[in-house]
Amino acid sequence: MTQLTENLKAKNAEYASSFVKGHLALPPAKKYLILTCMDARIDPAAAFGIDLGDAHIIRNAGASAKDALRSIVISQQLLATREIILIKHTGCGMLTFENKDAYSVVDNNLGGQASKELKDLKLDFLPFPDLEAAVGDDIDYLKRSSLVPEDVPVSGWVYEVETGKVRRVV
Ligand SMILES: [Zn+2]
Repeated sequence: MTQLTENLKAKNAEYASSFVKGHLALPPAKKYLILTCMDARIDPAAAFGIDLGDAHIIRNAGASAKDALRSIVISQQLLATREIILIKHTGCGMLTFENKDAYSVVDNNLGGQASKELKDLKLDFLPFPDLEAAVGDDIDYLKRSSLVPEDVPVSGWVYEVETGKVRRVV
């Protein structure tokens, strides 16, 4: 056990000792999904008022719609969510590099075999240079996709890690 897993175990024991929500259904009660970034400064439940069991929260680096498509289809088609709220954020790490930089870092840190694997996968890290434009691009991507039904409301937002405020972009 590392210090972090020790902490996890202790905090979970505390949490489970007063846990009373084991009866919740699998499909989210409020039938919506939030796609946001994995950034450690975002607390979706607290910042966006999500109670346990209410919504799917899909997270990845940059709140990428493309990267999240698999989960979005599962959420909507298998678990009946009917609205998509996409929230990127200020200060996102995805604004700070380009694909070639990530490829170079992997090559330096992990060496040739890892570098080759990355190239074989043609992995796109999906960085973006402009936050608001990226929100618009991802919303367009979702609206263009035939995997997202036309009657599903889709909105794009920016969360400010400096203020805790969220604002709508599209
Ligand atoms: Zn981010």
